[in-house]
Amino acid sequence: MPIVVMKFGGTSVGNANRIRTVADIVKTRIDPKKEASKSGLPVVVVSAVTGMTDLLIKAGQEALKKNLIMDQITDIHLKILEDLNLTEKVIEKDLENLGKHLKKIADKGDLDRQELDELMSFGERMSSKIVAAHLNSVGIDAKAESSYDVGFVTNSNYGEAEILDQTYDNLAHSLKKRKEVVVITGFIAKDLHGKITSLGRGGSDYTAAILGAALNVDEIEIWTDVDGIMTCDPRLVPNAKSIGVISFAEATELAYFGAKVLHPKTILPAMRKRIPVRVLNTHNPTHPGTLIISDEEKIEGIIKAIAFKRNVTLINITSTRMLYTHGFLSKVFEVFDRYKVSVDLVATSEVTVSITPNTAHHIAEIKKDLSRVAHVDVEEGRAMISVVGKGLQDTPGISSRIYKALGNAHVNVEVISQSYGINQSVIVDGKDLERGVKAIHAEFFE
Ligand code: ASP
Ligand code: MG
Repeated sequence: MPIVVMKFGGTSVGNANRIRTVADIVKTRIDPKKEASKSGLPVVVVSAVTGMTDLLIKAGQEALKKNLIMDQITDIHLKILEDLNLTEKVIEKDLENLGKHLKKIADKGDLDRQELDELMSFGERMSSKIVAAHLNSVGIDAKAESSYDVGFVTNSNYGEAEILDQTYDNLAHSLKKRKEVVVITGFIAKDLHGKITSLGRGGSDYTAAILGAALNVDEIEIWTDVDGIMTCDPRLVPNAKSIGVISFAEATELAYFGAKVLHPKTILPAMRKRIPVRVLNTHNPTHPGTLIISDEEKIEGIIKAIAFKRNVTLINITSTRMLYTHGFLSKVFEVFDRYKVSVDLVATSEVTVSITPNTAHHIAEIKKDLSRVAHVDVEEGRAMISVVGKGLQDTPGISSRIYKALGNAHVNVEVISQSYGINQSVIVDGKDLERGVKAIHAEFFE
């Protein structure tokens, strides 16, 4: 049986029933034979109970106004404990310390980044204890650990702290001979001064990836509430399917479009060590989900997914002077740089550069500035469709399939862009978006 790190997000530990499901799933990852020697046990990472991080931040803001309120925070946790037949003792100390921390904030009338990290940390500190207590109550030997007590060390960039290299050895050392299922707080750590830090919102995935890399596990499991990463947004394409295997590079292209399951940046530590990450569904635990691997070569399937973006503005910059001159593109990008606007797509001919900025801000200023060096034409109401897959790079005939599908659906393609990469994007009229996406999806996946 493979050795795994299992990460459960906020909704997966959001109430007693969800936590019961977590226990059922954890049980399936314990090898009955290996359990005798207590090696190879899964390591569990948890987020705070759903919504808790926001509630803690809110309590901090109230404390600044001298309102010491933590009823909701207390009630949510106590209700879960009660429903699981566990005693309040499990989190008694944390609630007490949280109360003290809020009082300190109120007295000082100030909440700095470090104090905010410390405040948010109570969410994971409580959820990990509740999950461990429940695992024990159903016969799975488990222990809650704060990430910093098993070796997570970061710099002091509160709110978005970076892991220090020594973390990996620390974790390998402290968890190697684990005798029970260890339930670790996601998202938080401590710096070298012993102050609590956080890894940034949603940081529990990052915690899991670091643990997986440090322990060199066979797989990191990210448990969410969908069957992995989908071939397209199911709200637009009801026939969207779960992707079996996807490369890290492909997942990164998709994440950009908000394929929300997980942010590839957070699993970089695992990818560097070639440890696969699997996105799974707690509501459908036998579904294989989506496996993200670092090695593109091993993946079959030419196209992995279709992403899209609405409300895109297309800026066409035409200069007869561009012909045979150097430095024109640099002048163009200088303007975008001036307004700190990043660019999604670029396509050029000898006389025209087409660009889609990734925000609608500053378009008027950009147009004005660019007009000094070229003729500028701004078209609003466009949409971008991106086809993502390694096959774009090395399979003859793929593009023709994309454009035939679009053509048959009467979708006019205004701009095309593909670098030597795995993402081919087209700009179409916004009103053609849905038809275009469905046509390409049908061509490759249905
Ligand atoms: N609880 C933290 C947050 O809400 C971290 C996480 O859920 O991954 O951002
Ligand atoms: Mg999350």
